[in-house]
Amino acid sequence: MSTEPSTLQRISLREAEITPGFTVRRALPTRERRMVGPWCFLDHIGPVELAGDQAGMHVDEHPHTCLQTFTWMIEGEVMHRDSLRSEQIIRPGQVNLMTAGHGVTHTEDSLDSSRRLHGVQLWIALPEAQADMPPAFHHYPELPRWQEEGCELTLLAGQHARRQAPTLMHSPAIAFDIHAPAGAELKLPLSAEFEHGVLPLTGQVRIDSEAQAFTPQEFAWLAPGPQIVTLHLAADTRLILMGGTPWQQNVIMWWNFVGHSREAVKQAQTDWEAGSSRFGTVPHARRRLAAPKLPW
Ligand code: MN
Repeated sequence: MSTEPSTLQRISLREAEITPGFTVRRALPTRERRMVGPWCFLDHIGPVELAGDQAGMHVDEHPHTCLQTFTWMIEGEVMHRDSLRSEQIIRPGQVNLMTAGHGVTHTEDSLDSSRRLHGVQLWIALPEAQADMPPAFHHYPELPRWQEEGCELTLLAGQHARRQAPTLMHSPAIAFDIHAPAGAELKLPLSAEFEHGVLPLTGQVRIDSEAQAFTPQEFAWLAPGPQIVTLHLAADTRLILMGGTPWQQNVIMWWNFVGHSREAVKQAQTDWEAGSSRFGTVPHARRRLAAPKLPW
C-alpha cells in the first residue's frame, strides 16, 4: 500500500543568508507550507566547520513579536543576549526559548571557541490571547532523553507517553530530536489530531511506506490522522519531528515579526523604526538591524 500524496508532502528546503557569509537551510515557511501546528519557522543551521573563510553566526540586534524562538543545539555553542538582560550560552543538548510576546530584541553569536556549529531554530506563533504577553526568556539545560528501538530520543516539546518536556508552550505541540547511530526502524505513536513535520538533519529517513527517502534537503509534512509513524532511519541519521494542532487563526509573518493582523505587524515595524521602548535594547549590541520596507 502506498502513501497517498495528500497525507505526505515532500518540500524542498531553500537557502537563506541570515547574516553576511552565513547561510542556513529553511524548511518553514515555504510556498508549499507556512506552518506545522504552531511551528511557523524552521532553520537548519549547519553542520558547518568554522574555520578559514567561514564566518561564525553573528546576528545583530533585531526585534520579535507574537512568537517564541526555540533554539536546539547539537554541536557548538551560541551566546544569546536580549533586552530582558538575559545572557545565556546554549550548549549541545540544550534549548533556549525566548517568548517575544509584545516585543523583545536579541542578538545571537556563536562562540569563537566553537569549531563546528549545528542546530536548529524554530519559531512558534503565539495564539491571539498571548500575542501581547510580556516577553520572557527560558533556558532548558536538561530535557527528557531515552533509548528506544536503537534510537536516542529527546523530547523537546510537549507530552509523549508518560514524559513531559519542560519547555513552555502556549498551544498543543510536540517536538523530538531522534538519532539512530547504527540505523533503526522506529514506530512512534502520534497524536491523531496533530499534523507533523519531519526534517532530517543528517543521514536519511524513509517514512511509512514511502519508497523514496528524505534527506536533509527535504522536509516532510504529514497530515493529521495516523496514530503511529514508522521511521526507517539509515545509520547516523538525526532528525527533528515536530507537530501540533493545525493552526486556525490568522497569522501574518513579516521579517522578524509575527502578528494576527497586518495592522499589528505594521505597528511593530513602526515602533522598531522609531526606536520605541517597546523592544528595549540589548546591552553592548554592535548594531540594530533595519527592517526591509513593508510590502503593504
Ligand atoms: Mn531572532
